[in-house]
Amino acid sequence: MAKSYETEHPVKAFGLAATDSSGHLSPFKFSRRATGDDDVQFRVLYCGICHTDLHQLKNEFGVTPYPIVPGHEIVGVVTEVGKKVEKVKVGDGVGVGCMVGSCRSCESCHEDLENYCPKVIPTYAAPYHDGTITYGGYSDIMVADEHFIVRIPDNMPLDAAAPLLCAGITTYSPMRYFGLDKPGMHIGVVGLGGLGHVAVKFAKAFGCKVTVISTSFSKKDEALSHLGADSFLISKDANEMQGAMGTMDGIIDTVSAHHALMPLIGLLKAHGNLIMLGAPNKPLELPVLPLLTGRKMISGSGIGGMKETQEMIDFAAKHNIKADIELISANYVNTALERLTIADVKYRFVIDVANTLKQS
Ligand code: NAP
Ligand code: ZN
Ligand code: ZN
Repeated sequence: MAKSYETEHPVKAFGLAATDSSGHLSPFKFSRRATGDDDVQFRVLYCGICHTDLHQLKNEFGVTPYPIVPGHEIVGVVTEVGKKVEKVKVGDGVGVGCMVGSCRSCESCHEDLENYCPKVIPTYAAPYHDGTITYGGYSDIMVADEHFIVRIPDNMPLDAAAPLLCAGITTYSPMRYFGLDKPGMHIGVVGLGGLGHVAVKFAKAFGCKVTVISTSFSKKDEALSHLGADSFLISKDANEMQGAMGTMDGIIDTVSAHHALMPLIGLLKAHGNLIMLGAPNKPLELPVLPLLTGRKMISGSGIGGMKETQEMIDFAAKHNIKADIELISANYVNTALERLTIADVKYRFVIDVANTLKQS
């Protein structure tokens, strides 16, 4: 029988995997590569549950290679480093976000935009350089090239830092790139979930005025009193939406499902930018006329490069920005995924991997 790379890897690992598009996660034994010269191995302590995990588990993009071990908001403590590693040492708090490899030689890689490298290697469900399929952070041990390791600042709680590795950088990067980071600007945040709630926090730290646009009335009080949003619109309330027409410089759209763009474009000032971050699995309808009449823009953005990810987490530590999390045990993960499907989480589930993921 041909040897598989997965069983050839010498480091025994244990995680949670789905084997079909039901997305149901079950215990899964696998193995990881030995720590190479440029590699950092770490014991996973916490892993956030991103909505992308849910899309992938259910094969909503049609490309999931089962079995899949999801998880790309991974933090832990370094257990071993390769002999060329300089960034971190054994015992340091580290993280891995959405990618574990790229070509390192293309234009995007040279510009510190590994996330836009045509050969970027996502943290799970993708072929790695050696041909094995990558497995994510719903697992007890992780190994990654040091280039794709993020240092977690000492003053940051590791559990609440985990979601920043995807949700944090995904919202921070476009606000910076598109210049929606200036004091006094008015930013809309659509969808108050994992991405949305950290978008509010970053926008407030930039000195912006923030309006949340949500389907969930139940999130209103907390958004205003706790997350620091300045106002809150219910997207289905036509009067409320009408009252805010033409007031926003930019909108961060984090909605994971099909939704109408027309009301959101209406909220923008002339030259405003609607930035699409959510990944609905079906095309959205694009009304063109309201773009022309205000020279408005619709754009997209995907995570961020490694340099900017480190910058984001250092910025978060400096400004006391952390994710609001519901810490769960590994055996609750299937229930958590069901709740995530109906937007029932404030605001990110994080799996307490080290304390609760046990081989029995
Ligand atoms: P999440 O925690 O589930 O948040 C999504 C929010 O969207 C929900 O909390 C809900 O907020 C709103 N929503 C859900 N269904 C809706 C519907 N049918 N109509 C209108 N609003 C709806 O998800 P997440 O982890 O933040 O991820 C959001 C999306 O971004 C996902 O599609 C994910 O795959 C994608 N993503 C993209 C990137 C990237 O690089 N661009 C990175 C990470 C994730 P309210 O209750 O406030 O309405
Ligand atoms: Zn994610
Ligand atoms: Zn590249």
